[in-house]
Amino acid sequence: MKFPFDNSYSRMPDSFYQRVEPSPVSSPELIEVNRDLAAVLGIDVDWLESSSGLDVLSGSQFPEESDPIAMAYAGHQFGGFSPQLGDGRALLLGEVVGKDGVRRDIQLKGSGPTQFSRRGDGRSALGPVIREYLLSEAMAALGVPTTRALAAVASGDKVYRESMMAGGVFTRVAQSHLRIGTFQYFAAREDFDNLRVLADYAIARHYPRAIEADNPYLELLGGVIERQAELIAHWMQIGFIHGVMNTDNMSISGETIDFGPCAFLDVYHPEKVFSSIDQQGRYAYANQGPIGHWNLVRFAETLIPLIDDDAEKAVAGAESELSRFPELHSKALRDRLLRKIGLEEGIDKDWELVQELLSIMSDGYADFTLTFRHLSDALEGGKETGVLEQFSDSQPIASWLTSWRSRMSNEDVALALESMRQANPVFIPRNHRVEEAIAAAYEGDYVPFRRLNELLRRPFEEQAAYSEYELAPKPSEVVCATFCGT
Ligand code: AMP
Ligand code: MG
Repeated sequence: MKFPFDNSYSRMPDSFYQRVEPSPVSSPELIEVNRDLAAVLGIDVDWLESSSGLDVLSGSQFPEESDPIAMAYAGHQFGGFSPQLGDGRALLLGEVVGKDGVRRDIQLKGSGPTQFSRRGDGRSALGPVIREYLLSEAMAALGVPTTRALAAVASGDKVYRESMMAGGVFTRVAQSHLRIGTFQYFAAREDFDNLRVLADYAIARHYPRAIEADNPYLELLGGVIERQAELIAHWMQIGFIHGVMNTDNMSISGETIDFGPCAFLDVYHPEKVFSSIDQQGRYAYANQGPIGHWNLVRFAETLIPLIDDDAEKAVAGAESELSRFPELHSKALRDRLLRKIGLEEGIDKDWELVQELLSIMSDGYADFTLTFRHLSDALEGGKETGVLEQFSDSQPIASWLTSWRSRMSNEDVALALESMRQANPVFIPRNHRVEEAIAAAYEGDYVPFRRLNELLRRPFEEQAAYSEYELAPKPSEVVCATFCGT
């Protein structure tokens, strides 16, 4: 068997999905296969790279043993509820249990229309395929829980977006595609039997310990809260802005999902937004924690009928779980940001040091990644230039460095430097480099994409051959807005 499928979701009740037929593309071309990931999944890589592999990766033909479905889900998008979204340009080929024992979904994106497509064409332009490949693999290398990229394919067909553009198909691998929006789909229909089937499935797949708990559904809620609190803090540690934290884009498994208009900060500012459709700043950098909490409240609401027959009791239980989120998230964020300046856990004074630094960075238009990375030089040999040159005004940061160094004189510097190197990446998928790779791909040149993908595999290591990829964009290269482009 080419794909060792072991499907479970397609055996759920019919209302969970629609079965789909293949929609062939004209002349698929393989751009990239993730060989390491294929090996973990137990998929024959040589076959994947062959023409019959390409037929599958382009959605032109379904492999044996696959059971392709488009999943139903709902969701709050920018605060407004849509009772039916669903896989409108994606399909779940099936599930594979990898060599590591983990069950994962294999999904095609851009594979053609489904009953959930409504207005869209079910296709994807090449740009979003390249972007998701780069961003999701970079996130994985940065150590962040995330969906992964198995393959990118150019379809040979055109799609109409702002203009006619080359199309593509992306193969996404995820621990599952269960979203908060999947629960909302059944809750909105007051279909509590299927809601329970879904919740039991989610527990068995992602939170098996909850089966033993007094109240498995409260335990499920608590588990999702814990993973999301940590995940969002992890994003913020590396300057990631998700950009479209709608409830259909928040995964029950705790993975980062949906790399639409996401971007990494260059210059630090807590209110930074890149997404062209986020005009209110709903999903701004520093708003991600509170919005995560808001989404989790929506999740909790769906679980009320399962938690207890007595609604008052159910609400009290859910509220008590939800109330843990702010502290869990801020503790995770505090620990992660403290590590960036070489401190662990920390006393309140240490946290003030972090906040002061962030405030000086935002006033001084400092590059987030470079500032933190160069702090190591300032500690190691007193080489301050790398830090100072990130700031428009060097006086406030120079005096901050003095306070910080005096605080660090109580610490084991070698240990602190080691932990800083693991908390502060050298390389991130900088927006101007991602855009450069996308522009080249539209010209049929995949070299910039491959180079960027290669260097992002080791984001915490200096790589002499790629040192220019460390740099912040020149003023003319700054990317101000990102687009979903779907
Ligand atoms: P997303 O932007 O991925 O969060 O998608 C939101 C909803 O819009 C989902 O139901 C998608 O399936 C649907 N959608 C996005 N792009 C397309 C498209 N090109 N064709 C059909 N449906 C789409
Ligand atoms: Mg989505």
